[in-house]
Amino acid sequence: MRRSEVRWERMFPDELEAAFDACPIVYLPYGLCEPHGWHNAVGMDAIRAYECSCQAAQAHGGIVAPPFYWHCHEIGGYGSWGHNKINQDRTWLTAIPPWMFLKNMCYHIRAVDALGFHGAILFSGHSGPHQLDVPVVIDIMQAHVGVRMYSSMSIGADIQRFKDGKGLGGHAGRGETSVLWTVAPDCVDMSRMPADDTRAPDFAMGDFNESSSRRVGEQIVADIVVHFGEKTRELLSAYKAEVSNHTPLTFDDVEGIWEDEIRPKLAEFASMQPPEPAPPSDSRWYPNSLIPKGRIL
Ligand SMILES: [Zn+2]
Repeated sequence: MRRSEVRWERMFPDELEAAFDACPIVYLPYGLCEPHGWHNAVGMDAIRAYECSCQAAQAHGGIVAPPFYWHCHEIGGYGSWGHNKINQDRTWLTAIPPWMFLKNMCYHIRAVDALGFHGAILFSGHSGPHQLDVPVVIDIMQAHVGVRMYSSMSIGADIQRFKDGKGLGGHAGRGETSVLWTVAPDCVDMSRMPADDTRAPDFAMGDFNESSSRRVGEQIVADIVVHFGEKTRELLSAYKAEVSNHTPLTFDDVEGIWEDEIRPKLAEFASMQPPEPAPPSDSRWYPNSLIPKGRIL
């Protein structure tokens, strides 16, 4: 039997209405194109978030919004990280600055709230300093919308997944590779792994990739699916308990919230702190690592 479609952009209006009636939950997956070693497709972060969201929606109900492939990078600490982990290779990044990413997120929240969703699961496969800023923005937006929100950046990273006890291997390490391999087998090609260490830093590759495992990936994905099932139930009952009626925000309302409540906090945001240490001034990472205080803050 054909599994029910959960991908918003591939559904017909009657399918969307039926899925909404059955479970008014929406997934908002985030990621970007970014170096993840020579053996992983660059869209890894968004692909993992999107595919895991689809599996969770198939298991528990809900609709998965089109993934947003533009995310925070290059600025501040991301810049010094990039200099160390990628250096002067062409990056293939789809980067935008934090103030663009976070404002986009506010508009995504506005859109799903205006449609009447009861719950939204915001799931980012890309991690970094913005992990501390996203909850601040969500808290501010939550006071203005009916849709109940939950955001997650990584799930189950604290669980020991590999028998050798050496962990998941960090960014583009064996944990992330295993998950990508499970959800999108055509996006991992182990034959592209570097044969020796001479090309270090190996395009931001993490550790222990030679022991990447689709079986471990399946366990991690299964845990994520269970976790989102729990969150689905919590969000639906929170909406029932807390929301009697609500008026959708306009674009102008979102601009007002941004100017009055979020923009004044930008200078404190973790993603907006200067790099320590800054990349050297001849690095391709140098110009955007600086915080543009004059116009933005
Ligand atoms: Zn990543």
